[in-house]
Formats: sequence, C-alpha cells, structure tokens
Amino acid sequence: MRVLILGGTGEARALAAALHDRPGLELTSSLAGRVRDPALPVGQVRMGGFGGAAGLAGHLRAHGIDRLIDATHPFAATISAHAAAAADDTGCPLLVLRRPGWNAQPGDRWTRVPDIAAAAAAAAATPPGCIFLTTGRRDLAAFAGDRRHRFLVRTVDPPSGPHPEPMTLLLARGPYTVDGETALMREHAVTALVTKDSGGQMTNAKLVAARTGAIPVVMVDRPPLPAGVHTVASVEEATAWLDIAVG
Ligand code: NAP
Repeated sequence: MRVLILGGTGEARALAAALHDRPGLELTSSLAGRVRDPALPVGQVRMGGFGGAAGLAGHLRAHGIDRLIDATHPFAATISAHAAAAADDTGCPLLVLRRPGWNAQPGDRWTRVPDIAAAAAAAAATPPGCIFLTTGRRDLAAFAGDRRHRFLVRTVDPPSGPHPEPMTLLLARGPYTVDGETALMREHAVTALVTKDSGGQMTNAKLVAARTGAIPVVMVDRPPLPAGVHTVASVEEATAWLDIAVG
C-alpha cells in the first residue's frame, strides 16, 4: 500500500516515524519546501508544491497512491483544500490528522478573532506597549500600520516585505519553555500576545506565561476544514486507520 503524508508538522513526523518500517507500507512524506532548514521526517521525502489540486491528483495517479493523509498545519488551508479536491477527483481515501486547538483556562484573557486582519485591529486597540507577535512571517504586513505599539516578532525564517516598526526580531523554532517565555515577555515588557490557534505542546508555553503575567492574548481562530473530510486528532488514530486499510 502506497501512502502519501502531506507534512510540515510534528505530527506528520511522528506519523512517519510510527509507520516507516511497517511491512506492506510504502511511505512518502511531502514538504512544501518553504523553510530554509526543515525538520525532516524519517523515510522517503519529496519536496515542493504539486501545482494545485489538479497537480496533486495527477501525483496521486502517477505514483499509485492508495491512501492520502493530510497532516499539515491547521493554518495551511490551501493544501488541505487541494487534498480534499484531489481525493474527490481520484477516489483516493483521505484522512486529515489535525491536532486539537487550544482552549482558554481560568485566568486567561483571550480575545478570539476570525483572521489576521481582525487580530491586527484587536492588537491596535490594546493600550500602548509591546506586542509579541507569533503569527508567522507572512502575516506581518497586517500589523505594519500600527504606530501605537512596538513589536516583538518571532519567526522561523527572516521575514521579507512590510512589517511593523519598531520591530525586534527573534529567529527561533520551538519547543519553548514556560520559564523562557516568561523571561522573554518580562525582558521586552510585553503588554499583549498575538498568536494563531495552532494547538499542540511545542508552542503553548507562551500561553501559560501570558496567563501567569495577566497579559491579554489575541487568538486567531483556525480556518475551517474542507466539508466532509474524515478527521482524527492523534497519530495513534491515523495509524489505526491505515491498519484497517492494510487488513
Ligand atoms: P498553504 O498555504 O496551505 O499551501 C500553499 C501551497 O504550498 C499549496 O498550494 C502547495 O502548493 C504547497 N504546499 C503546502 N503544503 C505542502 C506540502 N506538505 N507538500 C507539498 N506542497 C505543499 O500552506 P502554508 O501555510 O504555506 O504551509 C506550508 C507548509 O508549512 C505546510 O506543509 C504546513 O504543514 C507547514 N506549516 C505551516 C504553518 C502555517 O502557519 N501556515 C506553520 C507550520 C508549518 P501547490 O499548490 O503547488 O501544490
């Protein structure tokens, strides 16, 4: 059975690690090739876009893929839509592996917003101070017009294009610790945190630090999944789905 995992996440790497030596499975992980030094999954890897939903459908046919697993990031909505369309087109069974989102805990001061534009508006309305922005390098332009705040921006790769000023840039990749995030927020006198509801354990320490420091959080909601896709939340469930398929 040939399986294609659309990856770029810790879950996708964990799934590849769980499956790569299973007898009867031929596994390939696919990465977009966006970051300079990607964390690679074990086993066979292909890199780069497919050329839209039609390109992905062509890839599934050309490589005789029997099962498609979309284990991409919750905010990678375009590739998820393409996966659903390509699965419909080819009849290739599709599973979406999506980690659960974060939930506010007692003491949290979260404002949930539907998208980055709304996040920028909500951030701009907070009292003057330092906004800690962890929404990714491609979302910085929305904050560029904010003249009331300074920005602490953390990205994996350096941003290009419009960004807010003044900006202190940190290049880093999780996981992060609560102690580290608390010290960082204190050092920069952070007054608000803006983040996406990515979920997972790799980057949730900032939320604990914000709670402890009574720092307000602007939380960008996830884009919806394509309608009707079969979705699981854990590597174990994804493995079980394949086990049933293999028989
Ligand atoms: P996106 O906007 O949903 O996809 C844009 C295009 O990138 C897709 O149309 C596709 O190109 C290509 N692509 C995306 N993921 C791919 C994959 N796994 N394999 C091959 N091609 C892929 O995606 P994105 O938000 O730019 O994210 C790109 C990758 O980074 C994803 O794999 C995602 O898991 C990972 N990632 C994203 C975020 C985030 O915040 N968005 C955070 C961490 C990791 P074609 O149309 O040419 O096929």
